[in-house]
Amino acid sequence: MKISLSSPYLDEEEIKAVVDVLKTPYLSMGPKIKEFEKKFAEYIGTKYAVGVSNGTAGLHISIKALNIKEGDEVITTPFSFIASSNCILYERAKPVFVDIDRKTLNINPLLISEAITPKTKAILLVHVFGQPCDMEPIMKIAKEKNLKVIEDACEAIGSEYLGKKVGTFGDLSVFAFYPNKQITTGEGGMILTNEEKFLKLAKSLRNQGRDEDSGWLEHKILGYNYRLDELSAALGIAQLEKIERIIEMRNKVAEEYNKRLKDIEGIEIPYIDTKTTKMSWFVYVIHINRMENQKKDKRLRDKLIIELAKRGIEAKPYFPPIHLQPFYREMGFKEGDFPVAEWAGDTGLALPFFTNMKIDQIEYVCDNLKALMNKL
Ligand SMILES: *Cc1c(COP(=O)(O)O)cnc(C)c1O
Repeated sequence: MKISLSSPYLDEEEIKAVVDVLKTPYLSMGPKIKEFEKKFAEYIGTKYAVGVSNGTAGLHISIKALNIKEGDEVITTPFSFIASSNCILYERAKPVFVDIDRKTLNINPLLISEAITPKTKAILLVHVFGQPCDMEPIMKIAKEKNLKVIEDACEAIGSEYLGKKVGTFGDLSVFAFYPNKQITTGEGGMILTNEEKFLKLAKSLRNQGRDEDSGWLEHKILGYNYRLDELSAALGIAQLEKIERIIEMRNKVAEEYNKRLKDIEGIEIPYIDTKTTKMSWFVYVIHINRMENQKKDKRLRDKLIIELAKRGIEAKPYFPPIHLQPFYREMGFKEGDFPVAEWAGDTGLALPFFTNMKIDQIEYVCDNLKALMNKL
């Protein structure tokens, strides 16, 4: 059996939606992006939405919209996909990493205050693997210290913190629709906000610096081409229709995994916090915790990846921490800087996980994993 790490969940409706766009003259900046934005904002519960070409572009625009620039600092997590920190570097500002909570793998609110300096402008938080950050203490600190908040909700569409959807807390929030996310548009992303001034700025920045009221070739500010095309937007509308079913199906897959893996010696299954009143699963990541030290667990994890691959099962480390990526090391970051993130990076193993994953596939992964844990 061959089982990939992730797989999009698409059917005839998506195909029809895209083909229908191809029969119109509007392939970009037409009616579909407006419809997708409206429906997406409604679903999450913000006033405004701006469709963009990918999540990274959305994060970059959010940094620009807050006027974050050289000399500014932004507090963020080292345990994330690299885009959440790179977007700060794009504007020559400084990412200030704060270590994560051992259980939720999200930024540890208890460590934020000590990282704040007079240069701190914002907190860019990431709802890692779909689990909401602990928003109550984070928003309290942001308010007290007058800091802006950007939510990187790229992995957490539909997740709720104490009954409130992620993406509704920050000044700006960003979602992404790469094919491994809960819903996909191929490439694509969405910026959400409740503030009209950020809406206007985001729309201008994605469209070469044009204002709504400026002419065809009048560019008021330095902008980008970060537009979402009509084909992608149509795909997004069709996917969003199914979001509740998708979240439910992924929940079921996670449950089936939990059932089979929870009693295996040396495997920690994902932790879901009590404040996570709704979980939208992005990936299913276990942690290897069998040896007396982390480096041995890492070696076991790496062997498991190789042996699982030989059996047709694609598994991956998730995430190698951002501060240990080669070009971040060149900036002076090193091993030992953020021990919890490094532990998570050393021992985390993402197993195949996708919306319509079948029981026999889950069983095949778990049986092989069990056998390997006994053997290795
Ligand atoms: C997917 C993702 C992004 C954005 O990715 P794109 O590929 O640019 O759409 C940003 N942050 C996190 C945490 C992600 O998982």
